[in-house]
Amino acid sequence: MDIEYNDAERAFRDEVRGFLAENLPATIAEKVNNYRRLSRDETVHWHRVLGEKGWLAMHWPTEYGGPGWSPIQKHIFEEESAAAGAPRLLPFGINMVAPVIIKFGSQAQKDYYLPRMLTMDDWWAQGYSEPGAGSDLASLKMRAERQGDHYIVNGQKTWTTLGQHANMIFCLVRTDPQAAKKQEGISFLLIDMNSPGVTVRPLITLDGEHEVNEVFFDNVEVPVENRVGEENKGWTYAKYLLTFERTGIAGVGISKAALAHLKTIAHEYRIRGQRLIEQPAFADRLAEIEIELMAVEMTNLRVVAAAEAGGVPGAESSFLKIMGTEVRQKISDLYREAVGPYALPFIDEDDAPVGPDFAGVAAPTYFNLRKLSIFGGSNEIQKNIISKAILGL
Ligand SMILES: Cc1cc2nc3c(=O)[nH]c(=O)nc-3n(C[C@H](O)[C@H](O)[C@H](O)COP(=O)(O)OP(=O)(O)OC[C@H]3O[C@@H](n4cnc5c(N)ncnc54)[C@H](O)[C@@H]3O)c2cc1C
Repeated sequence: MDIEYNDAERAFRDEVRGFLAENLPATIAEKVNNYRRLSRDETVHWHRVLGEKGWLAMHWPTEYGGPGWSPIQKHIFEEESAAAGAPRLLPFGINMVAPVIIKFGSQAQKDYYLPRMLTMDDWWAQGYSEPGAGSDLASLKMRAERQGDHYIVNGQKTWTTLGQHANMIFCLVRTDPQAAKKQEGISFLLIDMNSPGVTVRPLITLDGEHEVNEVFFDNVEVPVENRVGEENKGWTYAKYLLTFERTGIAGVGISKAALAHLKTIAHEYRIRGQRLIEQPAFADRLAEIEIELMAVEMTNLRVVAAAEAGGVPGAESSFLKIMGTEVRQKISDLYREAVGPYALPFIDEDDAPVGPDFAGVAAPTYFNLRKLSIFGGSNEIQKNIISKAILGL
């Protein structure tokens, strides 16, 4: 494997850098770099900018509007985007349901939904998990009963990320409760969230933010033409989607940007006159994390290089999910420790937080990032996959 970029790849990197420098609004980059949340409009704006440039649907075939990038180009784009403070792209539409529609959807579904994803006219949510059906996804209970040319849908989804902004949700629903195995009798539906009978309720997470939701479906009418593929064969499509969910989940670019941010603080911030980086215990932890991140990056590059040569990442993506999310959590942990009590700032009577500007987000970020080892297939489940697929246990 050659880990140096060649001339063409360096030229591509410069092109991406130039585009980001010209088109990424400074207000958005400032928020991303300081771990603050973007508004709905800011998120839509950035997706539209990339959509217009033809760089939004990185993983799509060119005939549907993909840029035709190689795995290394995709990697470079993700690295440069994270380094510039560009928002992470919403995966649910372009990276999750789109590949399923492209492979298994009807021509009408392709013609209607794919162009709308490129212009961000639809904001998609993922309706997989339910109370009692997370890791054991096939236990899902949400029902869809066919009545003529409609399904009548009843049940609940949970953990629906940014569902409060979404107007479309793809759901796994049970269409044959009598099926012999729980993986059978499931169908894959595209549901308009503005349909009568859909209710979205916020779930407030440990960081005090509204990022996830519960979604309730009460006799919701869904046209049969909104089913992707065959009735009762949804598990096949659901699994196909999950292979895309884990792509890029190591988040190396984002961890590198977060580590660079922490290093800047460590060089500038003083406790009792001493810079953080001069404190041996802190400097040791920082070095350990940096080495671990370099190892994740190397593994990621190996997977990218294998993909470039036509290989398909298998159990390596489980490795990357575990290592990548653990290292990101360690960075946020060290950040929280570095700023000590200012991580949860005291707000004085004038509403001004006490402590340096960069400190107040440390604890909420730390709490929020506990999610990384849970979603996208929890790290315990990834270890099960590794034990079976690599170790043969
Ligand atoms: C912030 C956040 C956002 C999410 N967004 C979405 C979304 O938009 N759409 C969506 O559909 N879902 C979403 N999810 C759901 C996510 O995919 C599930 O949380 C995940 O699949 C785990 O399921 P669970 O929460 O039901 O935990 P459980 O499956 O109940 O697991 C609880 C614990 O037991 C462990 N465990 C379970 N089974 C085993 C086993 N066989 N061996 C070893 N350990 C095991 C798990 O690893 C975990 O630590 C989100 C979750 C979070 C936290």
